[in-house]
Amino acid sequence: MSDAKAYSAASATSPLAATTIQRRNPTERDVQIEILFCGICHSDLHSVRDEWSSIMPTVYPIVPGHEIVGRVVSVGSAVTRFKPGDLAGVGCLVDSDHSCPSCQADVEQFCHDAVFTYNGPDKHLGGVTYGGYSDSIVVDEHFVLHVPTNLDLAGVAPLLCAGITTWSPIRRWGLTEGKKVGVVGLGGLGHMGVKFARALGAHVVVFTTSPGKKEDALRLGAHEVVLSTDAEEMQKRAGTLDFILDTISADHDINAYVSLLGLDGNLTLVGAPEKPFPVSAFALLFGRHSISGSLIGGIAETQEMLDFCGKHDITADVEVIPIQDVNKAYERLLKSDVKYRFSIDMASLKS
Ligand code: NAP
Ligand code: ZN
Repeated sequence: MSDAKAYSAASATSPLAATTIQRRNPTERDVQIEILFCGICHSDLHSVRDEWSSIMPTVYPIVPGHEIVGRVVSVGSAVTRFKPGDLAGVGCLVDSDHSCPSCQADVEQFCHDAVFTYNGPDKHLGGVTYGGYSDSIVVDEHFVLHVPTNLDLAGVAPLLCAGITTWSPIRRWGLTEGKKVGVVGLGGLGHMGVKFARALGAHVVVFTTSPGKKEDALRLGAHEVVLSTDAEEMQKRAGTLDFILDTISADHDINAYVSLLGLDGNLTLVGAPEKPFPVSAFALLFGRHSISGSLIGGIAETQEMLDFCGKHDITADVEVIPIQDVNKAYERLLKSDVKYRFSIDMASLKS
């Protein structure tokens, strides 16, 4: 085992603070990675504060972080796809059973033995897995992604969660030319949804509660921006959208968005607020609307997304911060004040 520097939280009410954790010695199938940048996902904050306690209770101490990009330091003897010096990405998954129908169908995220990058059962060391707010990580080769060499690495890190989580439903629902797509919430996920839907040729309408984000939404690729608190503007869009990607992290009235769907329109939830919300039957009945959910994406699909980003020069818009500012960043995330993802520069862990 080796020591790694990290930031962890000791309880749901404690701030994140410097600590030392153990990483396993690489097995023959493992890749050892020096972490260069790690994005801050709102899921990190939900988990640190145990907001998902009824579904996935947090085990403390927690080291969050599942938007990891770094450089390969060493590889096990059976590793074929990576060598020391390569760039490498790790997202929300670090293990699965490799054999169930979900794994065979390249949707490892639905494997019953899927292990999340943090707060998952650690099969090697016992206890729970520790995530990317750290200077290093050791991961099974299958869950390590190739990172295009032409992109800014701070902006690549968020692709490993915010990127794949929005890419997967946008691809699954065939949102290309001729489709009208609503993106609700312009945060880490939302801004990636806008970039992807636009790059794939869809007409993109952003719904935001923040008047100050209107200009950015257009710059990021939206064709239209609607302030969701403006009832008249919302009413104008009733029945006009083929698809809505709902990325809101907090309690909200989902029916207000379902009513914006046209015939057979779908609203896909990727946001994961703490509490369940009421759904109006009539909002679904009229127009044969549906609501569904989507969870990150499989490894092959994540690689497809990264390759697309390399080809089309797409990265997240990031504010790079030293890890010492992580608690301040969480407070700003809660105020929807991030443009549009915090990316932690892990060089700051050395200081
Ligand atoms: P984020 O950067 O904080 O963005 C969330 C956005 O939602 C905010 O910027 C804000 O946009 C809007 N919002 C926040 N509070 C709101 C409220 N009370 N009412 C209406 N709108 C509100 O968060 P994120 O990292 O994108 O994550 C979003 C959600 O997705 C989180 O719940 C996260 O856990 C979840 N998630 C799910 C998956 C998955 O696999 N399904 C993967 C990653 C994350 P405006 O300022 O534009 O209104
Ligand atoms: Zn995430």
